[in-house]
Amino acid sequence: AKTDGRGCYRFFAPAMDTDVRLQRAFELQLREALPRREFELHYQPIVDLSTCRPCAVEALVRWRHPEHGLIPPDKFIPVAEEIGLIGPLGEWILATACRTAAEWPSDIRLAVNLSAKQVVGGDLVEVVRRALADTGLPAGRLELEITESVLLQKDHDSLAVLHGLTALGVHVVLDDFGTGYSSLSYLQLFPFSKIKIDRTFVAELTTRADCAAIVSSVTTLARALAMSTTAEGVETWDQVALLRAAGCREAQGWLFGRPVPAAALSFEPTAACAP
Ligand code: C2E
Ligand code: CA
Ligand code: CA
Ligand code: CA
Repeated sequence: AKTDGRGCYRFFAPAMDTDVRLQRAFELQLREALPRREFELHYQPIVDLSTCRPCAVEALVRWRHPEHGLIPPDKFIPVAEEIGLIGPLGEWILATACRTAAEWPSDIRLAVNLSAKQVVGGDLVEVVRRALADTGLPAGRLELEITESVLLQKDHDSLAVLHGLTALGVHVVLDDFGTGYSSLSYLQLFPFSKIKIDRTFVAELTTRADCAAIVSSVTTLARALAMSTTAEGVETWDQVALLRAAGCREAQGWLFGRPVPAAALSFEPTAACAP
């Protein structure tokens, strides 16, 4: 395999699907990765902005490739969806994350990402119920993050699945808000307890007045609908000040901690909590 300076894993990127043989090799190795235990979860804190103390932790999957090192999820989740691997991989992610989180202090919630294919393709409610039962994690401590793409799946009753999940007592969170085609009516129709404001808005918060206006409108709207908001990709204290002013309660980003293996996770305030 060749490197191009941006990491060996580019060799495997689905963008190179012109080379069918490379694509097939990638898919084959991906199929083997689960039985070979090559996936691992890293965990990133989500902090309460009034104390900068973690109130939740998001699980983020990585593939530790034997030759190419750590491969980020954007490179393999879409392929796992295509080749029908997202079901078993998603089950492993849920079970592993719930088992880990069951050991954390009881006021720390766990956030797990779901792919659209997991929501509409299978028996998600049963998979989640089993993960909770097997690990003893209380349902109220689990947040399942879904993106708008789930809501656009026309031929499936994603609404019924989301209601099935909330009936278990877990929280459903709308991830990457503002990046897709979501209509505000979705917020009313689906049982979300929280909205995550995408980091593209947070990134320009201090330089663009329109981003600040969007963030404070979303926060106000969420509050009116009895939902909370988490800001993603927070990297500076200037962003924190604007988020607090906008009424945003929770934040996640490198300022407070990068994703780390479970053993390296800390539940102490991760940074000096500037006023
Ligand atoms: P996401 O759910 O929006 O996750 C947040 C991403 O932003 C993570 O990238 C995280 O490492 C990154 N991030 C966190 N803080 C900062 C920051 O301050 N600055 C910047 N620039 N980036 C930050 P990651 O881990 O590469 O994950 C990418 C995406 O892959 C996730 O986006 C999610 O959509 C998907 N993903 C990750 N884990 C899973 C999983 O277990 N299952 C599924 N279905 N998808 C997953
Ligand atoms: Ca997420
Ligand atoms: Ca997100
Ligand atoms: Ca994202």
